[in-house]
Amino acid sequence: MSLEVKTLDYEIRGKEILKDISLEIHTKEFVGLVGPNGCGKSTLLKNIYRTLRPKYNTVFIDGNDILKLSSRKMARELAVMAQENNMEFDFKVQDMVMFGRYSHKKFLQGDTSRDRELCAEYLAEVGLEGYEDRSYLSLSGGEKQRVLLARVLIQESRYIILDEPTNHLDISYQYQIMDILKKQEATVFSSVHDLNLAALYCDRILFMYQGKIVDDGTPEEVLTSENLWKYFQIRAQISRNPATGKLQIYYLPDWI
Ligand code: ADP
Ligand code: MG
Repeated sequence: MSLEVKTLDYEIRGKEILKDISLEIHTKEFVGLVGPNGCGKSTLLKNIYRTLRPKYNTVFIDGNDILKLSSRKMARELAVMAQENNMEFDFKVQDMVMFGRYSHKKFLQGDTSRDRELCAEYLAEVGLEGYEDRSYLSLSGGEKQRVLLARVLIQESRYIILDEPTNHLDISYQYQIMDILKKQEATVFSSVHDLNLAALYCDRILFMYQGKIVDDGTPEEVLTSENLWKYFQIRAQISRNPATGKLQIYYLPDWI
């Protein structure tokens, strides 16, 4: 049981953005995708969640080509929290969350009382209790992000794909969101901007650079000062945080 990408190449207007990417995410793993801006993280994730279509069959869930799955089946397998979410129409928060329930319903079936209960539960889980009737567009960036997370959770899919989910969030919500993701049954594959956050939560990290996966392993194996220098051009001192037992990265600017 796994999500697998096999030899994925992706070009945009003749420019190679992804080069021969192969990876496998196993059931119940929490895998982070890190790498500098523009290295291709979002493009890779979009190929996995079908916003971009690879030329050949290269993404498989349990051996099934995702391009052959119906949208309903795909939604049962994979929930997505993308980076941009430009909405033209305004919806109530409850409706936004309920979109995540679509694959659990029959055609044109309305929301059941169970759906509304779940909606309230997941809104509470992301710290937005009682927000059902608020207008989505009136929310702050962080609140919107958490509504989108509730939508992902209510989908109750086997895989959750996220693109920098903690981007607009203040520090306590960054940890809260990672905690919520960590305790889900689902397998999680997420790009993560903050390497210390990645070190704290990920079982495994894929390091990307210029369209390729250049390293793959535990945080200890991958988040080395050599890799940070090679791929981010930043000097770093790496130690173990005595409280968490996890890696802690201290960045060292040139003048130190
Ligand atoms: P990341 O998410 O790691 O920051 P992206 O996947 O967004 O990187 O982008 C990878 C590369 O592809 C970048 O060089 C970006 O400029 C380029 N790119 C992405 N989308 C387009 C597009 N629609 N047109 C042209 N170039 C693009
Ligand atoms: Mg990106």
